[in-house]
Amino acid sequence: MQKREELYRGKAKTVYFTDDSEKLILHFRNDTSAFDGEKIEQLERKGEVNNKFNHFIMTKLEEAGIATQVESLLSDTESVVKKLDMIPVECVVRNVAAGSLVRRLGVEEGMALEPPVFEFFLKNDALHDPMVNDYHIASFGWATADQVEKMKALTFEVNAVLKALFDAAGMILVDYKLEFGVDANGNIVLGDEFTPDGCRLWDKETRKKMDKDRFRQGLGSVVETYIEVAERLGLKL
Ligand code: 5GP
Repeated sequence: MQKREELYRGKAKTVYFTDDSEKLILHFRNDTSAFDGEKIEQLERKGEVNNKFNHFIMTKLEEAGIATQVESLLSDTESVVKKLDMIPVECVVRNVAAGSLVRRLGVEEGMALEPPVFEFFLKNDALHDPMVNDYHIASFGWATADQVEKMKALTFEVNAVLKALFDAAGMILVDYKLEFGVDANGNIVLGDEFTPDGCRLWDKETRKKMDKDRFRQGLGSVVETYIEVAERLGLKL
């Protein structure tokens, strides 16, 4: 597989075209950002850890019958993925109150959410990723009503698979963000990534934070804790 020109440079990943028009390469960099890119640091090994972690989780989801973009690991920090036409919204599911939900609704962090809460956000750093709903998505033409329903259903399917996976490894899947795209056949496919950068994970016993909140809140040992999460899941890094 030949890497070609850059398609898109995100805050932590760069996407490249390849010699195959249906495939892209994702390069996971060491850059770590928070607060819409206001805080950025380089954390040694984070690109490698997130690349391998993402491949591990996406493979588990594929095994559970959920279509993902991931094809194969290319190097320590790169993966080959199917090219998707990405839908510009973030799908968030929350099992436990934390983060922006706590700030918006004034509820206590740690409150169990039963049933889990689903939220859409528009991917737009300049606007600080505002919350949107099905009506905004339809009116602005970001996705069809069918695609909206499919994204919701798939995000909850992911919840069932990953809640159980993390629970068995002594962790609570507090919340997470997914992004979907449309493949060459018009199917909705899970894209982007699933890593501790885009979810919240707490130790079941101590409630220690094991995700990007360690970086956002200056708690330290960010990559070391991501590696601990991976190892608890049985992934050797
Ligand atoms: P919150 O709305 O509480 O800030 O985020 C909810 C969940 O989605 C958290 O797990 C958070 O890490 C993830 N999330 C929300 N927006 C983004 C984003 O722009 N980038 C990343 N990496 N994760 C996000």
